[in-house]
Amino acid sequence: MNLEQSFRERVKKIKAYIYVLQVIGWDSNTEAPRNSFKRRGEVLSEISKELFMLQASPEAVKSVNEMYDKIDTFDDHLQREVKKAKKTVDKIVNIPQAEYIEYQKLINDSQIIWEDAKKNNDYDSFKENLRKIFAFNKKFALYYDANANPYDTLLDDYEEGMSQKEYDIFFNTLKSDLVPFVKEVLKADKKDYSKFLNDKFDVKKQELFCDYLTDVLNFNRNSGLMKKSVHPFTWNTSPDDVRFTTKYLENYVLSSIYAAIHELGHATYEQQISTEFDDTLLNGGTSMGIHESQSRFYENIIGRSHEFWEAHLPKFKELFPEQTKNMTVDDMFYAVNQVEASMIRIEADELTYPLHIMLRYDIERMMINGEITVDELPKIWIDKMEEYLGIRPANDSEGVLQDVHWSGGMIGYFPTYALGTAYSAQIYNTMKKELDVERLIKENKISKINEWLKDKLHKYGSSKTPKELLLMITNEDFNPKYYVEYLKEKYTRLYLSK
Ligand SMILES: [Zn+2]
Repeated sequence: MNLEQSFRERVKKIKAYIYVLQVIGWDSNTEAPRNSFKRRGEVLSEISKELFMLQASPEAVKSVNEMYDKIDTFDDHLQREVKKAKKTVDKIVNIPQAEYIEYQKLINDSQIIWEDAKKNNDYDSFKENLRKIFAFNKKFALYYDANANPYDTLLDDYEEGMSQKEYDIFFNTLKSDLVPFVKEVLKADKKDYSKFLNDKFDVKKQELFCDYLTDVLNFNRNSGLMKKSVHPFTWNTSPDDVRFTTKYLENYVLSSIYAAIHELGHATYEQQISTEFDDTLLNGGTSMGIHESQSRFYENIIGRSHEFWEAHLPKFKELFPEQTKNMTVDDMFYAVNQVEASMIRIEADELTYPLHIMLRYDIERMMINGEITVDELPKIWIDKMEEYLGIRPANDSEGVLQDVHWSGGMIGYFPTYALGTAYSAQIYNTMKKELDVERLIKENKISKINEWLKDKLHKYGSSKTPKELLLMITNEDFNPKYYVEYLKEKYTRLYLSK
């Protein structure tokens, strides 16, 4: 077998192992009974070991390195696959095994320590683990590339091609242009919709409405399905099998609606990727940021638009006549676009959300660059909340302890949430020139929008980098101006123009 054939064979096998792990993962997050976890853990560990060997055994590493030496002789797709494989291999082989094992144990232990610390509002009990997690991440980044700034290496792990240079420009734009605007909107008079928002909505009927939305967004039910879970997520093995979940709260109907639309955005992206990539390293969405751009596009730009509720309020009213007795489209538009300074990121609205991310970016950058210590984190957090949103968390549980990411070792991940949303505004700006988006939403023809996104973005899977895609679609590099403009236009219309 020649070099290329054996590379293909190995990738095919890796994909098969990943498929098995994913199916088990879906099962454990949706259907599996509680007591199944022990046996599942044993099986998972065996399969993971095999997968690790396929990716990082001396033989596998040799094969990837040999392919890398001949990279110029391959076509574009194979070149990109080999680059990806090489990066994975380099990340693994450069870390001394003893340190890798110590880190895995640290992450495993930190989960419970963080959960307890959050529950008991006891930052001190988690502090030492947090310090070690940051230290390990910095060290591993330097093993991978001793000449690069370690935070740049970590940022690139979650969003290929992004570094502090680009993120600084992005967040500085938000700091100078968005923060003062948000403060103005927060001060503006607003009608109170809390009675409607916290009214009781039968969960069975909410399920019917989410089912209806699945058709509105043109999700292919022959190649996917919807379930419920505590934390909504999207799952896929190939474009022919894409599943997602939503979460139902009896006293907050918007939870199931917007989680469903958000996940449908991720799911639509996955369903529309070309199947030619199934047995390659180029399947699936290309990056966290681009994925989030799709979920946020459907959730916010489509789902929180006036036109969306012009089309779908009648169905909503039919299911919930009591709760929506005097409700107009305008009321619904305001109700789903409430703005409020809140402590918790995952409960934040579209306008204040990026400021929560900006705070986390500031802290991660200063931590990895050695400018602050874990002892100072809680106070910095509180001060920055005041600076950006004008509120001060009363305790660390609703401050520095609120997110799961750092305890899971994910450093460099947060910025992609805000970046993705900003990508979506830039993509939308181009889409509007080619499609009458508002009319298509109002006339319930979202399939036309899906087709546009398939052709411009989705079909490529991971065969293009985020930067290549953005440039191809919008004829421009990433530019945060579109995001700020989009937010200012929408929220001025909602709250500042009388
Ligand atoms: Zn998402």
